[in-house]
Amino acid sequence: MYDVAVIGAGVVGALAARELTRYQLRVLLLEKADDVAMGASKANSAIVHAGFDCVPGTRMAEMNVKGNAMMAQVAKELSVPFKQNGSMVAAFGEADEAVLRDLKDRGEKNGVPGLAIVSGDEARALEPKLSPDVTAALVAPTGGIVCPYELTIAAAGNAMDNGATLLCNFAVTGASFSDGHWTLSAADGRTAEARYIVNAAGMGSDIIAGMLGDFYTLRARRGEYLLLDREQGDTVSHTIFQCPSAAGKGVLVTPTVDGNLLLGPTSVYQDDREDRSTTAEGLAEVARLAAKSVPTVNTRAVITSFTGLRAARPEHDFVIAPSAHSPQAVELVGIESPGLSSAPAIAEEAVRLLGEMGLALTENPAFDPHREGIPKFREMDAEGRRKLIEQDPLFGHIICRCETVTEGEIVRALHQNPPAHDLDGVKRRTRTGMGRCSGGFCTPQAVEIIARELGIGPAEVTKCGGESYLLMGETKAD
Ligand SMILES: Cc1cc2nc3c(=O)[nH]c(=O)nc-3n(C[C@H](O)[C@H](O)[C@H](O)COP(=O)(O)OP(=O)(O)OC[C@H]3O[C@@H](n4cnc5c(N)ncnc54)[C@H](O)[C@@H]3O)c2cc1C
Repeated sequence: MYDVAVIGAGVVGALAARELTRYQLRVLLLEKADDVAMGASKANSAIVHAGFDCVPGTRMAEMNVKGNAMMAQVAKELSVPFKQNGSMVAAFGEADEAVLRDLKDRGEKNGVPGLAIVSGDEARALEPKLSPDVTAALVAPTGGIVCPYELTIAAAGNAMDNGATLLCNFAVTGASFSDGHWTLSAADGRTAEARYIVNAAGMGSDIIAGMLGDFYTLRARRGEYLLLDREQGDTVSHTIFQCPSAAGKGVLVTPTVDGNLLLGPTSVYQDDREDRSTTAEGLAEVARLAAKSVPTVNTRAVITSFTGLRAARPEHDFVIAPSAHSPQAVELVGIESPGLSSAPAIAEEAVRLLGEMGLALTENPAFDPHREGIPKFREMDAEGRRKLIEQDPLFGHIICRCETVTEGEIVRALHQNPPAHDLDGVKRRTRTGMGRCSGGFCTPQAVEIIARELGIGPAEVTKCGGESYLLMGETKAD
């Protein structure tokens, strides 16, 4: 019997589980996929929005501004890269400039500090590669960038280090309440019991809400991206937005915390909640709109493309509330953008709501908010590298040449909470295979290390769980 079960190990669920371990509670984190950060938290723009875009008075506005202010501290505690690079909304003419004034006004009502509208020339002085057609820009110094899946992995890992249990491949398909507690059942027949539950199931949160008698409508809104090689990472230093519309925040051009350049996303509703394929039309639209802001953007340097799915409500606001029809349950529904920016604040609010419902929040004196990340060999100086290799010779063996990832890092990823158990899990934790060759050189060696460390045969190693085996059998076999 757990005190609280959090359903969904995206950035919101993982941070909520971590927040709960601050107290003397038995915490369970349930995830339907075979790893954490497999939903929207895996594929998004990675922006810590300043909060000028949300409608004043909404939950979204409140959580965005609070979450933005919390992010630097959370990232520091969890050893996750975060940079307050500032953001800029570019206007192309008078109609857009009116939008900038409206955004500044909204932002000030939301409590966003430091907003300023600058002329086109002033914007180009800050960002020399900005289009000559930009006539003005809204500058937001508190905008930032973070790695969304690293943040999620670190939050889940820190929750586990503080005593929480993570169960992956646990797709909640039923929930019933009796004798003061919930019984959650999984697709494979397993059950889990908890006194309180938090629904943080992202794109599945309306389905979980339905099990609790609450009715919400969600639709998937796809966003396609182009990711450019590291050599393009210094094209811009700010995150460059265009004016937002009803369809979303528009296509951006932004550096990432790992030094790449990211372009996107599109914004198209779709009925399929799983389809994360990319389309030629979508990617062409991204390239075209990105070039409107930064004409010299070099799309010949694209190393990969991907799609993320927003869990959008027609009301376009977050639901962060006690269940209206069930006891001892908190609903976190419709956490679309800016959900990443808001996640630390949503997590705190979810725990506050549980406390209001009667969950005893007695401080856990053993709680440690810090998590040491896996050492990043590529970011170290010669002396740091020498010391690390002395401690563990596996750090002297480079596996991924594009991203300078060592065997020591891969081994840590397979054993540190939450442990990776497939190639993509190793990739998200270490960047193995994330470079220009997309794993062409390092995959065979990474497979050998995964097999050795997990005590399985190379043919049993998967790309991303299930039957996604990487090797089909032996060559020259009968
Ligand atoms: C294209 C795009 C761009 C975005 N850009 C930004 C941005 O720049 N800045 C920003 O702040 N936000 C951005 N967002 C929003 C942000 O990514 C999300 O708000 C955030 O990741 C939501 O986190 P989550 O934990 O609620 O959901 P998810 O990350 O989707 O996690 C939910 C988890 O629940 C699991 N789950 C679902 N059903 C069940 C079940 N029945 N049982 C067990 N587990 C279940 C899923 O597998 C998933 O892992 C963007 C989103 C998209 C898609």
